[in-house]
Amino acid sequence: MSFDADVLTLYPQMFPGHLGESLAGKALERGDWTLEATQIRDFATDRHRSVDDTPAGGGAGMVLKPDILAKAIDAVSAVDDPRPRLLMSPRGAPLTQDRVRDLACGPGVVIVCGRFEGVDQRVIDARHLQEVSVGDYILSGGEPAALILLDAVIRLLPGVMGNQQSGVTESFEDGLLEHPHYTRPSEWEGRPIPPVLLSGNHREIDAWRRAESEKLTAERRPDLPAGKKKPAKG
Ligand code: SAH
Repeated sequence: MSFDADVLTLYPQMFPGHLGESLAGKALERGDWTLEATQIRDFATDRHRSVDDTPAGGGAGMVLKPDILAKAIDAVSAVDDPRPRLLMSPRGAPLTQDRVRDLACGPGVVIVCGRFEGVDQRVIDARHLQEVSVGDYILSGGEPAALILLDAVIRLLPGVMGNQQSGVTESFEDGLLEHPHYTRPSEWEGRPIPPVLLSGNHREIDAWRRAESEKLTAERRPDLPAGKKKPAKG
């Protein structure tokens, strides 16, 4: 079963972008997932192929027109399309690893990339677009946000990552930030690897990593559920 992504954008040449490289790129070649980038402008009807217009009520910038965008959405996603339709938007629900995991378990996704001031509210309502944000900052367009979302989802698809285990011990997978990593040489610029990691005692290693994770989460991300717990001493 493949994961099918449709992206609606004014810049289809931005796709697959970095997702054509490395493990995601190989998975794309294998057909583990598909990506179709559709040019919204192809659905414009006037001589100038315009897709945007001035905001009702006045103000700066331009707004993506609902009629053109709806035609583009309808061309790639029928009414009975089981895939969620997302609109990349700084007003959206912040993207989390839980949401990413949910999406990776589904049949795919339809993603609308906004530009200018955003899109006409009526198309959001009429086509049931779920707004998703990649962070509390403003990008100039939804394309990099769509690439971030797809990157996070694709790496969870079965068979995409060589080492399945690293997918479950990653930051956020258990509500904690990940512990620090070390590799050879055992001493570098006078800094040794913490001796417990070289002890061969896997119980102690697991306990040390867990304690480091809890300490880091409490220090850096008290907003995470696990960050509120008092870290174990150690
Ligand atoms: N006027 C809007 C911002 C528009 S930015 C506002 O204040 O909310 C132009 C487009 O970039 C948006 O339509 C959206 O698709 C995309 N974008 C910008 N920041 C984003 C973010 N943090 N997350 C997801 N998409 C974003």
